[in-house]
Amino acid sequence: MILERTATLADRPEPLRQVDLPVPEPGSGEVLLEVLACGVCHTELDEIEGRAPPPSLPVIPGHEVVGRVTKRGPGADRHALDDRLGVGWIYRSSGADEENLAPEFTATGRDVDGGYAEFMIVSQDYAYPIPDAFSDIEAAPLLCAGAIGHRALRLSGLADGQRLGLTGFGGSAHLVLQLARHLYPNATVAVFARDPEVREFARQCGADWTGDTTDRAPDALHAIIDTTPAWKPVVEALANLRPGGRLVINAIRKEDADKGSLSTLSYHDHLWMEREIKSVANITARDIAEFLEIAALIPIRPEVTAYRLEDANRALRELRAGGVKGAKVLVP
Ligand SMILES: [Zn+2]
Repeated sequence: MILERTATLADRPEPLRQVDLPVPEPGSGEVLLEVLACGVCHTELDEIEGRAPPPSLPVIPGHEVVGRVTKRGPGADRHALDDRLGVGWIYRSSGADEENLAPEFTATGRDVDGGYAEFMIVSQDYAYPIPDAFSDIEAAPLLCAGAIGHRALRLSGLADGQRLGLTGFGGSAHLVLQLARHLYPNATVAVFARDPEVREFARQCGADWTGDTTDRAPDALHAIIDTTPAWKPVVEALANLRPGGRLVINAIRKEDADKGSLSTLSYHDHLWMEREIKSVANITARDIAEFLEIAALIPIRPEVTAYRLEDANRALRELRAGGVKGAKVLVP
């Protein structure tokens, strides 16, 4: 499935087109994966609608890829044929500790072809063994939603016994909730979501308290992770933070539709008392490899809905519409 031009989903409800392409050849240090599953991430909407546009088109989207090694390029001996590997948002980068922030960061499915396909090429250094604990479709959302959620939770600075908030409860947050339960067994978790069905899902996943985006948690929170594309939840989350609390925004772009909400920001009510805001940018190879190990230990149970690859446009429209619990995964 290829993206040929950027436009809003409202203007162009079928943004991707199914085409036949030759099977790519792995180069030096690369492997060819037969794609088994590919998750649908909100970032794809940012690419398609032009908020985080691909540098050149057409491109194959998709950066939550689970595939099997079917061919190895010269010198690619790190993984064996038939190994099941995952690929995330980081396609390649500097290899340094902060490679997620490096100028050479190259994003899978935006800067190079990704996993909305039957085959894809990846560097052996940016492909990770998938633990046996997960099926193909369960593993897919772990590679971005889960791994970046893990990074966001780390950046939140939460300690055990403290109070965590999650605003928005989709593909990433439902994994972060399970991770937080494991890493911080004495922490409490509050979930803010507009949709009553999504709040019910959050309670089933173990949330201690749920409310609407504009509600106040019973006690002010030490840290909140925002996974929404909007601005109102940012303002509301700041009002739910205790003094010294931190809001982590886990989104590559925010949409402008409700940007006017920012005019309600009060320095006194939302920022004063050393409240802080931190964004999460990209991911490192180490983040993904570490998260997959922890996820298998817990084990995290992703809630997934499978779609056929040719139904990718419908999956994207349903992601935009919201209200569907868990993560969406394409199966070729
Ligand atoms: Zn993603």
